[in-house]
Amino acid sequence: MSEFVCVNCEAEVELDPIHEKVICPKCSHRVLFKKRPENPSKVEAI
Ligand SMILES: [Zn+2]
Repeated sequence: MSEFVCVNCEAEVELDPIHEKVICPKCSHRVLFKKRPENPSKVEAI
């Protein structure tokens, strides 16, 4: 599973691009870009 962001409505979508169609569930837009962690060092302490 990878996190994607819809270029149209900016919805965050989690899907498997190998087994699933890359499509936004909210607006059915088919162009999504892969989301990169903005702050990889930010980890929530338990
Ligand atoms: Zn969308």
